[in-house]
Amino acid sequence: MIRYNVSLKRMISRIAGVAVLCLFTLPTFAQDFLAEQTPVARKLADMDSLIFNKQITKERMEYPAMDIYPDWQDTRVHAYGNVKIPANYVVDLSDFCMPTTHTRITDSFGYRRWRRRMHYGLDVKVYTGDTIRSAFSGKVRMVRYERRGYGRYIVIRHDNGLETIYGHLSKQIVKENQYVEAGTPIGLGGSTGRSTGSHLHFEVRFLGMAINPASLFDFKKQDIVASTYTIKPSTSPKARYYKVRSGDSLSRIASRQGVSIKRLCDLNHISTRTILRIGMVLKCS
Ligand SMILES: [Zn+2]
Repeated sequence: MIRYNVSLKRMISRIAGVAVLCLFTLPTFAQDFLAEQTPVARKLADMDSLIFNKQITKERMEYPAMDIYPDWQDTRVHAYGNVKIPANYVVDLSDFCMPTTHTRITDSFGYRRWRRRMHYGLDVKVYTGDTIRSAFSGKVRMVRYERRGYGRYIVIRHDNGLETIYGHLSKQIVKENQYVEAGTPIGLGGSTGRSTGSHLHFEVRFLGMAINPASLFDFKKQDIVASTYTIKPSTSPKARYYKVRSGDSLSRIASRQGVSIKRLCDLNHISTRTILRIGMVLKCS
């Protein structure tokens, strides 16, 4: 933003300079002078806006959504845990491409009771070798392999502020820091990492906060749900789930999370006698 402001200021001061020149330096022939100068001034302004647009494109290529994210880094997928989510931020989804032409959802987003953990993405049935495409335009932030998790995966930061993650790929065909358009093939479907059977694990995040991809993409209809999506920080899974730490008890968690012990038990299908294990995730609302 700072660099935009500098460019803007420079642009305004140049236009103001031309205006001041027109008004004060040649008062006698002001009319003629203005008439003659108008095309020149317009040319100058056009040139300025051209430079300005080039600058925006250059910065966009360097660092998409630079006004939202604190930095650009390639060491961690979930690197923005401490950043405050701006409420009611409107994300433009209009320039999109479905990551796959397949329509069958094999696992939804949300809490998996039997595993006591969150599933932060949507699983879509794809076959090994199927083309996976970038959902929006943006820049590839990570191309990595995680044996026990995502398998071969790709993280892309988009110009609209979202980040998307594509997991369990058999092949990655883009490089880190590569700029992609919506629809650019980025990899091939597979079953690498923690996966049973080929599928695409697709995550949508905003500043690290997982969003249910089904609120944005309708895989059955192969379309977006709406042209925009408004970020609601309260939808953060962080707010609704609690990871048991050493020394925790049901009553302590209940009082700290602002829920009754009975509600906590009902939500998690446990009883007051259930032994809490460290790392166990409890649903709190
Ligand atoms: Zn998954």
